[in-house]
Amino acid sequence: MQEFDLFVIGAGSGGVRCARIAAQNGARVAIAERRHWGGTCVNLGCVPKKLMVYAAEYGREIDDARAYGWDVTPGPHDWRTLIDAKDREIERLNGIYVSMLKKAGVELFTGDARFVDANTVEIGPSELAPDTAVQTVRAKNIVIATGGAPTRLDIPGAEHAIVSDDAFHLENRPERVAIIGSGYIGIEFAGIFAGLGSQVDFVYRQDLPLRGFDEEMRRHIAELVPLNGITSHPGSTPERIEKTSEGYTLHVKGGKVIETDCVFMATGRHPNLTSLRLDLAGVEVTDGRIVTRLEDAKTNVPGIYAIGDVTDTYNLTPTAIAEGHLLAERLFGETGREWSFGTTPKAVFFSQPLASVGLTEEEAAEHHTLDIYTSSFTPMRQSLSGRKGKAFMKLVVDSKSQVVLGAHMIGPDSPEIIQGLAIAVTAGLTKRDLDRTIGLHPTSAEEFVTMRTPTRHVPPSSDKQN
Ligand code: NDP
Repeated sequence: MQEFDLFVIGAGSGGVRCARIAAQNGARVAIAERRHWGGTCVNLGCVPKKLMVYAAEYGREIDDARAYGWDVTPGPHDWRTLIDAKDREIERLNGIYVSMLKKAGVELFTGDARFVDANTVEIGPSELAPDTAVQTVRAKNIVIATGGAPTRLDIPGAEHAIVSDDAFHLENRPERVAIIGSGYIGIEFAGIFAGLGSQVDFVYRQDLPLRGFDEEMRRHIAELVPLNGITSHPGSTPERIEKTSEGYTLHVKGGKVIETDCVFMATGRHPNLTSLRLDLAGVEVTDGRIVTRLEDAKTNVPGIYAIGDVTDTYNLTPTAIAEGHLLAERLFGETGREWSFGTTPKAVFFSQPLASVGLTEEEAAEHHTLDIYTSSFTPMRQSLSGRKGKAFMKLVVDSKSQVVLGAHMIGPDSPEIIQGLAIAVTAGLTKRDLDRTIGLHPTSAEEFVTMRTPTRHVPPSSDKQN
């Protein structure tokens, strides 16, 4: 039986980084993958999604280019060309992941890995390797990095719906799509399908999309939804899906019905745990997730760790990578690196995109007296084309210390701008630092250094209650 210092289950962003860094530090490392080298982000998440966002943006840009003198008219979009090109790119990235792991000296197992006991793993046949013989290995340390999968609502007719995994491989682009859920996946795919020419019904149970984001940003993003040609159905809880001769009917509580060609459930994700046989290793699962300590990725069983979406904490690729990297260094290398998880920037690739770093106004107001700075303007890029939709920027500043607790933006390139600002926020940026920074003209980003007067002062929410 082969023995390793570290065995990683799942070759997604977090698992691959953990395996590679451990191997580079001299450990004997193996990794098992059952489906896609590179995991969700590369195959069924961030990367193909962003390529599809670009596809939707090109259509809008061709449209706008006429105002700048280009004699062009957007023709129909060819879905097959996009999907084939996207698949070729993903295949190229899969290859890079495999060669990167091999180069680092990591042993690769293709198949479905599951626990035999706390130090033993068995790898059997899987989708990627249906004919693989069962192999058993032992390891001093085992990392569970199996990621998550889309969650389907438990409603009658749910089997008729697609989830994000399917959306990347549809044979044809549906002319009408009803998207359930207004988290990241729901709103991003609403933008993609609408941008490519589909009629989109956006169905969600809150008053505003993107629960958890800053309330004011949610209101501004909601204003952009109809400008993208998307029909919103806020306050709508889905009840059942019915197959009809024309397509599907989505029935919503209260009697509303939506006729469509495709129902897309973007209703959250859950950790991939079922096939792992965690009970044989004694790993505890609470509410469907492995509970770990963020600082050391430890589970309740010594020598077994969990990182990334399987822990259901941040559910973001860069945080999974950071967790994997830190764990590998802690086990086999020099420690000392630190990551500021609290200032993890986030982006929603809608049109226009929304990006944030730090606290929302609502979170910050729980403990701080705040100065809130906001600015709303039409981006210069839209001036000649007349495209509608305002950019909006917001700074959440602690009144006393002047520390910037949160920065939020909706507008062109906001993810690129907020990534830069995230460095400053992580380093303890104050409003005074922004005030003494010279703007870069003419950009949208310069607005962050020219907001002089607070839009409002906000007392801590504990004061409001008294
Ligand atoms: P989210 O958790 O972000 O959103 C889930 C949506 O489904 C919410 O609108 C939620 O409504 C709704 N929902 C959940 N249960 C029900 C129900 N029973 N009935 C009706 N609606 C329901 O999940 P996503 O699927 O959008 O994304 C999954 C994860 O993937 C996210 O956590 C995110 O971190 C990650 N991701 C990140 C991206 C990025 O960084 N750009 C892009 C895509 C995904 P409600 O708000 O009312 O609960």
